[in-house]
Amino acid sequence: MPDCATGESKTETQPPRLVANWETLHRLFIRPENDAARTALVKYMEQILFGLHDFLQQHVGITREASLKELSEWFTQSRISDEPAKKLPDVITGIVERIAPHAVNVASPYFVGHMTAAIPFFMVHLATIVAALNQNPVKLETSKVVSVHEREVLAKIHRMVYDLGDFFYYAHVQRPESTLGSFVEDGTLANMTALWVARNRALPPKEGFEGVEKAGMASALNAYGLDRCAVIVSRLGHYSLKKSAGVLGIGNDNMIRAELDRNGRVDLVRLKGLIRELGRSRTRIIGVVGIAGTTETGAVDPLAGMAEICRESGIHFHVDAAWGGPTRLSAKYRNLLSGIEAADSVTIDGHKQLYMPMSCGMVLFKDPEAMNAVAYHAGYINRPGSVDLGIRSLVGSRAATSLVLGGALEIMGAKGYALMIDHGIELARAFAEEIETRPLFELVTRPQLNILTYRILPPPLKEALAKADSQAERAEIQGEINEINILVQRLQREAGKSFVSRTTLRRFPGEETVVLRSVLMNPMTDMKILCEILEEQEAIYRREFPPPS
Ligand SMILES: *Cc1c(COP(=O)(O)O)cnc(C)c1O
Repeated sequence: MPDCATGESKTETQPPRLVANWETLHRLFIRPENDAARTALVKYMEQILFGLHDFLQQHVGITREASLKELSEWFTQSRISDEPAKKLPDVITGIVERIAPHAVNVASPYFVGHMTAAIPFFMVHLATIVAALNQNPVKLETSKVVSVHEREVLAKIHRMVYDLGDFFYYAHVQRPESTLGSFVEDGTLANMTALWVARNRALPPKEGFEGVEKAGMASALNAYGLDRCAVIVSRLGHYSLKKSAGVLGIGNDNMIRAELDRNGRVDLVRLKGLIRELGRSRTRIIGVVGIAGTTETGAVDPLAGMAEICRESGIHFHVDAAWGGPTRLSAKYRNLLSGIEAADSVTIDGHKQLYMPMSCGMVLFKDPEAMNAVAYHAGYINRPGSVDLGIRSLVGSRAATSLVLGGALEIMGAKGYALMIDHGIELARAFAEEIETRPLFELVTRPQLNILTYRILPPPLKEALAKADSQAERAEIQGEINEINILVQRLQREAGKSFVSRTTLRRFPGEETVVLRSVLMNPMTDMKILCEILEEQEAIYRREFPPPS
């Protein structure tokens, strides 16, 4: 039978026993042996597409009640079974019935707490093609046309950000010596790639020194008479930048926090001062990072001003647009990211606002030769002068995710994406207004894109806060408000109907503010749903904190 992932040997009384042998292995590797086999395989695909999809339509939040402890007890085996244990249909059914109901329904329009949400249906088809073709863009010999197609897709994303005109793209799109960017696993590796390039360009080879990549950080500091290298980023910078500083030998402690203005954006005057001050010490600034949509609040740094300051000082300017980058596809709101086109490098996450399945990070470079600073040649694959994409890439073997993105861009068009981007931004604005009309809530950060934070602030505590005349007193009241928000967020999540996330902001020195965070990216989320979410929070609050009678 076609559905044999494995063969079986039957006896009268016992259930079929599965065995591993060459005959069945052939069936797994070659193709369906007959029409019946083909029909069966199509049926499984149907089960994957619709079995999972039906499940996602029906439930919200974490669907079936089972504690993580209980779930972890189901998965305690560490031995690979000697003989095959299941056939394909049983594996699929097992996932549909045993795993999916306990996974998180990120597709629910009530799931508004994270940057992971519903994806268009066609993404599943495109992702399946990636697996079926199994191309490896690390080198041409395992990808051929897929590599040149990938270059085209990268050029489209590069143009979305930099918009350098027909001539530029025509010249570079397929020029082997040019690298407009690179596909990586995620935003973390995209940021790391950008800082890797920036580091190598900030500590280049010179007489008696072969460059930081080859000679290492200690020699580099020595060669350039430095005490340390540093990267400047807002306090709202994603922790992947910190990780990168660790991996690249810059050091966590040398991620220097830029001061923010009242709207959570890097303050330009103080940034300038900071750079001037560092210039007087033996510090080499590897890069300044601007954020186009901070993970916590969606704030967009003043990119044009930061770019100008970096240009004057000859510092690499990286923009982490993992979240906000696709805002460039909206004719209406693309100017919210103005200045991004002056960045030396940009991070974009396809699995966020390009609505791709996990995961697809991209890093782009304005200078098509920038990535030469990280070129590697391996004798058996990537020979100098070849166009193998693995030559300038942090990762080696990887999936041909560009097939998914390329297809999605064709299916959606900029206008299709803009519908979702505009909806998110406009919904966030309406949600902010709604929060402001409700006496129990406080809007904490106004949405600059489609993320906002707010909190429950009971009127009596609000008054007490206004009257408090010592820092200690204020801190104590804030602590009380924080406890309320922590509890309400947890109880709402556990009820499983809707999900809003929680984070901690530092609004005033010495005060931590726990906030509820909404990320509005699901096109099916609307004001009615958001009001239900607020009402649920209000109900939980009133139940848990009844007024003294
Ligand atoms: C999500 C995000 C990242 C990291 O992305 P991953 O894909 O999770 O590695 C980096 N920066 C910002 C601003 C993000 O929102």
